[in-house]
Amino acid sequence: MRPGYPEQASFIELSAKALRHNARVFRGIAAARPGQRLGAVIKGNAYGHGFEELLPLVHEAADVLYVIAAQDALRARERERAAQWPQREVLVLGAVGPRELAELARERVAVVLSDLSWLRFAAELRASRPPGPLEVHVHLDSGLGREGFSEAELPKVVELLKANADVFRPAGVLSHFANVEDVTEQGYALQQVATFERGAATLEAALGGVTLQRHMAASAASLVLPQARFDVLRVGIALYGLWPSAQTRLSARVVLGEAPVLEPVLAWRCQSQAVKWLEAGAYVGYGCTWRATERTRIAVLPMGYFDGYPRLASGKAYALVNGRRCPLLGRVMMNHLVLDVTGAARDADEVLATLIGADADEAISADTVAGWADTINYEVVSRLGPHLERRVV
Ligand SMILES: *Cc1c(COP(=O)(O)O)cnc(C)c1O
Repeated sequence: MRPGYPEQASFIELSAKALRHNARVFRGIAAARPGQRLGAVIKGNAYGHGFEELLPLVHEAADVLYVIAAQDALRARERERAAQWPQREVLVLGAVGPRELAELARERVAVVLSDLSWLRFAAELRASRPPGPLEVHVHLDSGLGREGFSEAELPKVVELLKANADVFRPAGVLSHFANVEDVTEQGYALQQVATFERGAATLEAALGGVTLQRHMAASAASLVLPQARFDVLRVGIALYGLWPSAQTRLSARVVLGEAPVLEPVLAWRCQSQAVKWLEAGAYVGYGCTWRATERTRIAVLPMGYFDGYPRLASGKAYALVNGRRCPLLGRVMMNHLVLDVTGAARDADEVLATLIGADADEAISADTVAGWADTINYEVVSRLGPHLERRVV
């Protein structure tokens, strides 16, 4: 353990079998279109699952890796070299700095061109004498209102790419959806697809008839919007076995005939730090928000909001001990949770609690925790502390 972290703490289990299963679901979807490839989004510490621990599994399962930070792309290349894996296509989706470009070009990592401020970087890249041009994918803003070019800006983009053809090689074009997972009616998404296709065609023609790799579909669109699948699926949350939303699951049933089974990759467990009896009338936690009405067996867990367990779940959450639901008592603290284990572990001196995941025939999903904390499963998992121990099982 690193200094400052308790030796006895919570840990995360990662199921290799679940990840392989989820990848197979998307391979099945991609099989409908010959040549369609599967890309894995591993931003945000692989959605909190653990970049280093999950990389071998994701690398094996996918054809393309999508990261946010240039550093993660370089780490993936290092691991490929060290373990002698075949090279995957790697694309940095996020912003990159001028000083990172040369190394990315050397490592054959592609980057996303999404802003004209890049104009400034061409000279810097040229001066660093890369072995070949840096591959770029042009981001079109088709209606998310985030990064990417509008149609009106495309002539300028083309001019930039042509003027710097020695350092930038256009390889792909992408866009990102605004609300596929928020609705079951995809009118806005289909408008985005039309805008994307128009922009992609304009680019290809203006660049002299090149063919650019097209990609637009994240998890939800990969599942429910066949028109958006194009050349590569850019799958994040669903690869980890979580649904983008309840609406997506409903739509998948309609579009695919039945909703595929996604298996959650992650479980979060914690060994107790103390188990003891509290007498009737005793309080638990800051603010004295919970008081025992009868003699209560409690388990103190050495984990809290510092580790990523949401404080907003206070007063609502439960965890599993011996396959039984045990209410969380009082408030979630920085480094402590307290469970009522009277019904689950009356005679035990220590317990293993499951905060997310299955225990016997009970399970708590990241969605359930997200519901308690008024947020989405994406936020619950991606906020899991990078310091937590992760075990691939
Ligand atoms: C996060 C992200 C994805 C993956 O989204 P999921 O809903 O997790 O599948 C795909 N593309 C871009 C550009 C993203 O930012």
